[in-house]
Amino acid sequence: MIFIAGAGPGKTVKYVTIKPRHCFHCNNDSPWILEKTKYFVSLFFIPVIPTKTQYLFYCPICGNTQKLEKEEFERIVRFEAEPYHADNPR
Ligand SMILES: [Zn+2]
Repeated sequence: MIFIAGAGPGKTVKYVTIKPRHCFHCNNDSPWILEKTKYFVSLFFIPVIPTKTQYLFYCPICGNTQKLEKEEFERIVRFEAEPYHADNPR
């Protein structure tokens, strides 16, 4: 029997801040993107074991990225962000 195993990112969920945020890297004010990515070990291309979750917060203009802790990410999502729709960026 042959096992095909791998590891990699699974589903990504995105949010966008409601208010513009200043980026000290590119000096623009724009809504920032919050991105939550779950990583899995997969077997036969089916994600089976979650390994880690990464929480990123970044400027969509220059890509300046901060890593967030789960608590900080969830606080921003709850109070300062809304779901991100690629066809309707604000
Ligand atoms: Zn920037």
